Amino acid sequence: MSDEQRFAIHDKWISAARNFLARAPDDEGVRILEFFTTNAVIAAPTSEGIATLERTRTPQWFVLLHLLADDLEKVPALSSSLYAGSAAQFTPTTRLMLLKESEKYTDAYKAVLLLHEGRHALRTLVDNFYPDGPLAVAREERDTHDFQNRLVTKYGGAPYKTILEREIRRRLKKTSRLNYRPGHDFFSYPVEEGGMDGIFGVAPSEVERQARCVHLEMHVSFTIIARYFKGNITEQQTRCYLWYLEHHQKNL
Ligand SMILES: [Zn+2]
Repeated sequence: MSDEQRFAIHDKWISAARNFLARAPDDEGVRILEFFTTNAVIAAPTSEGIATLERTRTPQWFVLLHLLADDLEKVPALSSSLYAGSAAQFTPTTRLMLLKESEKYTDAYKAVLLLHEGRHALRTLVDNFYPDGPLAVAREERDTHDFQNRLVTKYGGAPYKTILEREIRRRLKKTSRLNYRPGHDFFSYPVEEGGMDGIFGVAPSEVERQARCVHLEMHVSFTIIARYFKGNITEQQTRCYLWYLEHHQKNL
């Protein structure tokens, strides 16, 4: 893979995010994309690790590796379960962002992944926020999923709202049958993502399908908490995320 090809891949992700925001206008999304295009420094793996292919231009730089299938062979450290299990990832301490190019995604989902990880990077490098410990991570993820829920709702419009409400009803039906009282087991019912292909396009990989399910699970849970729970809603959504983190250990 030549350096030019890596920059071409990068351009595709950026245009995917641009097109997404043109259909789902969002001020925070625009700010994140602006941050992303200004500060990303494209990198490639070498025999010794990862090398950047361009100079850093700003104090808020971060290293962006579009992770190809070949890269995983070249740099064994990247094949660790940590990297292998995620579609996308930003690590605050190393300023390294990975967007997994070894899997196929629809353009719309590329945008969702870029803006999600971009938000984490912006929070760290602009707002100087370094989450320490699972609760701080969960708070940050809660806020980022809240942002993502808003974006996907704007993008998906009425058909997405129909899917969301269908899954909320399904969840509430199951939980009332079990004589539900507020507690963590409430969240252990998987969603059915039927209909999501109509919004994003047919999922071209199992990784995208899984990522959509996690997204929808989170959106269903957050909405039910906001509608039916009492007290500090944000905090309870954070606890909900923590529960996922402990029980699923999958990329959120
Ligand atoms: Zn995240």
